Formats: sequence, structure tokens, C-alpha cells
Amino acid sequence: MANYDLIVIGGGPGGYVAALRGAQLGLSVACVEKEKRLGGTCLRVGCIPSKALLESSERYVEATQHLKEHGVVVGGVTLDLPAMLKRKDRIVRGLTQGVAGLLMKNGVTRYEGLGTLVGTGAEGTRVAVGDEELVGKHVILATGSSVSPLRGVDLDADWIGTSTEALSYAEVPSHLVVIGAGVIGLELGSVWARLGSKVTVLEYMNRILPGMDHELSAQAQRVFTKQGLTFELGARVTGARREGEGCVVEVEGREPLRCDRVLVAVGRKPNTEGLGLEAVGVATTQRGQIEVDDHFCTNVPGIYAIGDVIRGPMLAHKAEEEGVACVEQIVTGYGHVNYDAIPGIVYTHPEIAEVGKTEEQLKEAGIPYRVGKFPFLANGRARALGETEGFVKLLAHAETDRLLGAHVLGARAGDLIAELAVSIEFGASSEDVARASHAHPTLAEVVKEAALAVDGRALHV
Ligand code: FAD
Ligand code: NAD
Repeated sequence: MANYDLIVIGGGPGGYVAALRGAQLGLSVACVEKEKRLGGTCLRVGCIPSKALLESSERYVEATQHLKEHGVVVGGVTLDLPAMLKRKDRIVRGLTQGVAGLLMKNGVTRYEGLGTLVGTGAEGTRVAVGDEELVGKHVILATGSSVSPLRGVDLDADWIGTSTEALSYAEVPSHLVVIGAGVIGLELGSVWARLGSKVTVLEYMNRILPGMDHELSAQAQRVFTKQGLTFELGARVTGARREGEGCVVEVEGREPLRCDRVLVAVGRKPNTEGLGLEAVGVATTQRGQIEVDDHFCTNVPGIYAIGDVIRGPMLAHKAEEEGVACVEQIVTGYGHVNYDAIPGIVYTHPEIAEVGKTEEQLKEAGIPYRVGKFPFLANGRARALGETEGFVKLLAHAETDRLLGAHVLGARAGDLIAELAVSIEFGASSEDVARASHAHPTLAEVVKEAALAVDGRALHV
């Protein structure tokens, strides 16, 4: 039986980062991961492969549609899908090997297999991995999430599948139906639309990206519609099945849709099956998430949980922050995550990014606010890039001017949001952002102008 100060179950961004931080702080650490490759959903079948395909497919669109605007004439552009998929796989392989290297370099012992909680005692918590038993003074559960099934929809891991299959279709579907206009639906829907598929997105709510600032998601819908995506809103999918050579998707009160592939992207559920929560009495919420307090402690002393398996947004960087804060809490007694300063990004083209509160949330909470907005169209760099779609929208407290929320639809929004996340973290006012010098000509000047606009002082309007 091997003893550790810290055992982390799950080798995703939450788990492996917690393991690294534990090792940095001098703990003896084990990381248990059931898959061969480390890196979790994010590296294997999530963030990284989807961004690789988003980048490649965008290059294809650029070559086939946009280069001529720049006076660059290319002929005979063709799609080599196998090469595109191979590139994605190569990137994934390299990064997952990188994580294995990091763990080794930091002296973290890696166990391959399903980790199951089997008991608690004076020494700590016992974790079984195959035939082996480990004991941890502290155990962090970082088992992540997997695709939520949809009643009536028979996933066949091929024609009717999830994001995992949609990252590897062997050929471009002629008609792809995406169920769910959330982040996955829009990112992967965009990939296949760019490569030539007709894409129909069915969304239960009456808007796309329901959690985001309404003004932003409404504009995003117009942009994606122009790009060729078709949205059917208020569409409750009741079933999907294989029929003949294709698939049929049933929508309540509407004509069934015929297509050749279906992507189910209606959210994800926490991974707790086989983890042995019952054996040690770890409590879960009604939604099946592991219940934790503000310090990531479960109801069982010495057992903690972080990442997708607990409450909060399902984001890799959120899981990482929690991993670090949880370990620091264990070792030093303090460690904190500011959930108001965690950015969320949709890596479409243009990108959509936000941090802090939406306008709807401020209204609902009765917080007085002022809005500053500025369009990319009025920015010199955006014109030079040919990327004039979208705007930056800042929300500041009406009395204190403190920045409460930032929402960006536009080129490189995912990079622009970093400045605004730091501003919120530091408790900056819109005046602070407006007075900071922003290099010219950069897209960041749109942020500065939006900050000036909070006080009606934008210069280039
Ligand atoms: P995971 O990454 O899910 O890792 C959990 C790990 O635990 C897995 O490797 C699993 O095999 C292992 N495990 C589970 N149970 C056990 C057990 N009992 N024993 C041993 N091992 C176990 N987020 C972003 O921030 N940016 C993005 O661009 C982004 N894109 C995404 C694209 C897609 C298609 C998907 C599906 C997700 C995306 N996400 C993105 C979400 C992101 O992947 C997750 O939020 C993140 O991976 C959560 O990290 P985690 O460590 O909590 O869990
Ligand atoms: P999501 O919660 O973002 O979107 C799911 C969508 O499906 C919602 O709009 C919901 O209203 C809709 N829906 C639910 N039931 C439906 C039904 N029966 N019929 C039609 N529509 C229905 O979930 P997702 O897109 O599956 O992504 C899962 C998680 O992965 C998200 O929490 C997200 O944070 C994470 N993720 C993040 C990124 C990123 O950060 N760029 C990328 C991909 C995934």
C-alpha cells in the first residue's frame, strides 16, 4: 500500500494542475487517470482538438473566400480532410505527452486506471486503482464531465454522436444537424459549415448562447446566419434515429428533419460513476455534482473536489484555478478563486468573449450601471485586418464606475478579454481602463474607446 500526502483522481486540467501545484509545495503526490493519455477532456477531446480544427477550417475559408480581398489570388484550393485531422491528432499527442513529462519532472507518481474511493481511516482516504490500494492524507476528486444524453436520441457513436465524433468525421457531412446552440454547437457547427456542410442548429431556448449577454448573442446569431448556419429556435428535440442512409430528427410540433449526421451538444454532466462516493459518504447535489464548500471541501474531511465535477462554469481554466486554490488551501490555509473574473470564450469567427456580469444579471440584481460600447468598424487595425464585425461592450457601476462586466464580439475577442479580466480582478474602474495607454493601431483600442464611452467620451465616433 502506497501512502501520499495528496492523491488526485483525474488527469484533466483541474487534476494535473492540482498535482503540479501540490508537488511545487512539497507534497508527495499521486495522480490517477483512467485513460492512457493525460490532459482530460480538454486535451484529448475538447479545447485543443476543437481549436485545431477551428483554426484549420478558418484557413480554408480564408483561402477560398477572403484572400482575394487582399489582392492575393490563389487557384485550385482543395480540402485535404485527412491531413487536417492528422494535424489535430498530432497537436493532441504532443500536448498530452507534454503533461506526462510535466508530472514526471515534478515527481508526481502517475497511476493508470479507474480510481475508486474505498474507505476512510486515521491514515487518510483509501483509493483503489486496479489491484493496488493507495492512501492519501488528502484526496482531490477532479473527474470532470461527459456528454449529457438526450431522451429519445440514440447515440450510436457515429452518425448520431457527440463532440468527440464531430472532431473526427472522416468526411464532410452534406447536412449536419446540431442539437443545442451552446458553445460546442456553435464551434463545431462552424467547423463543418466552413468545410462545406449545410448546418442546421436546433435550440430549445428562443436565443442562441442562452447564458451570454443578450445583445452579444443576438448580434452573434446574425453573424453566424450570414456565414450560412441555419438556426431553429424554440425547437424541442424529442428524438433522433437512423433511417435508411441518413438520420431523422424529431422536433416537437414541427416537421421532422432529415440529415446525414447529428451532433448532440446539449450540455455535459459530472463524472461520478464508479468513483465510490457512496462507499465513503461523499454528498452530491440534485444535479449530480459533488457538493463542496467555498474551500472545495466535500462533507467528508480530507476529500475535496474541483473542476467540471462541481458547480460553476465548465471551463478548463476554471478547473485549473480551482486546482491551485484547493491545494494552496490545504497547504497554506488560504487559496481563492474569483468567479467574477473568469472569462468565457467562444472560438468562432469572429470570437465571442465575456467576463463578469451580463446586462441581464445586473438588471435582475437591481445594480445601477452605465454602458460603454464601441464598434470594431471604427478601428483602424480592424479595417486593415478586414475584421470589422462586432463591438466591445463594458458595464460599469453607475456610482463607483467599477467595471462589472465586459462583453466582446469581434476579431481576437478571446485575447482582448484578458485585459478586462485583469481589470475586474484588480477592481479597476472604466476610467482606469480608459486612461491606460493602448498601442496604436491595435484592436485593443476598441476596448479603450468602449471604456471612454462609459462616460460618453469615446473619441472616434
Ligand atoms: P476533465 O478534463 O474532464 O478531466 C477529468 C479526467 O478524469 C478525465 O481525463 C477522465 O478520464 C478522468 N477520470 C474520470 N473519472 C475517473 C476515475 N474514477 N479514475 C481515474 N480517472 C478518472 N473549456 C475551455 O476552457 N476552453 C475551451 O476551448 C473548451 N473547449 C471544449 C471543447 C469541447 C468539444 C468540450 C467537450 C469541452 C471544452 N471545454 C473547453 C471544457 C473543458 O474541456 C472542461 O471544462 C475541462 O476539461 C474540465 O477539466 P476537469 O479537469 O475538471 O475535467
Ligand atoms: P451548453 O450548455 O453550452 O449548451 C447547450 C445548449 O443546448 C443550450 O443552449 C441549451 O439550451 C440547449 N439544449 C438543451 N436541451 C436541448 C434540447 N432538448 N433541444 C435543443 N436544445 C437543447 O453545452 P455544450 O455546448 O454541450 O457544452 C458543454 C460544456 O462544455 C459547456 O459548459 C461549455 O462551457 C464547455 N465548452 C466550453 C468551450 C469554450 O470554452 N470555448 C467550448 C466547448 C465546450
